[in-house]
Amino acid sequence: SNHLSDRIQNMSTSATLAMAAKARELRNEGKDIIGLSLGEPDFNIPDFIKEAAKQAIDDNYSSYTPVDGYAELKQAISLKFKRDNGLEYAPNQIVVSSGAKQSLFNIAMVVLNPGDEVILPAPYWVSYSDIVKLAEGVPVEVKTDIDTDFKMTPAQLEAAITPNTRMIWFSSPCNPSGSVYSKAELEGLAEVLKKHPNIYVVSDEIYEHINFAGGHVSIAGIDGMYDRTVTVNGVSKAFAMTGWRIGYIGGPEWIAKGCTKLQGQVTSGANAIAQRAVITALEAPVSKIQYMIDEFHKRRDLVLGLLGEIEGFNLNVPEGAFYVFPDISAFFGKTLNGTTINNASDFALYLLEHANVATVTGEAFGNPNCIRISYAASEKELKEAIARIKAVV
Ligand code: PLP
Repeated sequence: SNHLSDRIQNMSTSATLAMAAKARELRNEGKDIIGLSLGEPDFNIPDFIKEAAKQAIDDNYSSYTPVDGYAELKQAISLKFKRDNGLEYAPNQIVVSSGAKQSLFNIAMVVLNPGDEVILPAPYWVSYSDIVKLAEGVPVEVKTDIDTDFKMTPAQLEAAITPNTRMIWFSSPCNPSGSVYSKAELEGLAEVLKKHPNIYVVSDEIYEHINFAGGHVSIAGIDGMYDRTVTVNGVSKAFAMTGWRIGYIGGPEWIAKGCTKLQGQVTSGANAIAQRAVITALEAPVSKIQYMIDEFHKRRDLVLGLLGEIEGFNLNVPEGAFYVFPDISAFFGKTLNGTTINNASDFALYLLEHANVATVTGEAFGNPNCIRISYAASEKELKEAIARIKAVV
């Protein structure tokens, strides 16, 4: 029988991981599945970073690290924030964690009291709402759609704020929509927040470098926002280091202290070897990873072009990350090969079963009209996957 806590019973399973598991299952049955469901670069870790990790092993970096990360790593993060984002974060404002996912969990646990509301412009990254709920916060979705490029307007933000609003969480470039907030758009949101000094912002910038429009803007750098923003980042996406599990924050000292206190009782800090390697990664000029960004850019254009030829796929132009998020609501109510499509989950399942292509339903991201397709796959796989999709719709 099932004795799980209410906390875990009420939590949803990560839809992206669930889809990946289902695809793996079908593959084991012998089906030729193309997986476009995971948010994971398909590149190898650059050699210069691997070398740093090997060196760290030989240099015996095998003990517990400081709970908030090695001093040298925090120094490298501080310089990175200055170099790439124009942000001054002193080492005591920085905490290193086991992935940006843990950084986000820490922030929720440290800032939220039960019942505190967190505004999530939807579509949002799949884990935000469950992390907020785990910390007994209340996610408040603000629906955006393709007409505003899936971005929250100042008026929408204003309308969502209540006396219980404690935070706003968003990612730019956005997973899943690929949308990038411009400086003017962030200034518009900041203008609203000026009237509500108790609201904090979590700015998830993990896709910062995977930006085809150029010019990533951190909201912490906008007038009046620095003291009330936590900037979250990590190495999973830009350096293709998903499995190494290193993420970090820069933010107000009291939040950093709280995160360190929490980690001190929960993980004792992030992996030592990975931390050493990340010092090298962050100290390197961004030009060292430009080849991956260029490749993603090429694939984005390829995928937009091919999907654009399929009737019923309504697309915006994602300016960053490595996803497209087509609105496929034109298929709702239709029957394809004997399967009735009533929502995005039906559609994603239909693509998996009939086209052997794994995508993710937009419902998991707070948008039931869309599906998310990751283009972190080879050109050959992308072409084949889209040809298969086209053939079954
Ligand atoms: N934030 C966003 C928007 C993401 O897409 C992801 C990974 O998918 C993360 C955070 C988590 O990254 P990490 O691997 O550092 O935990």
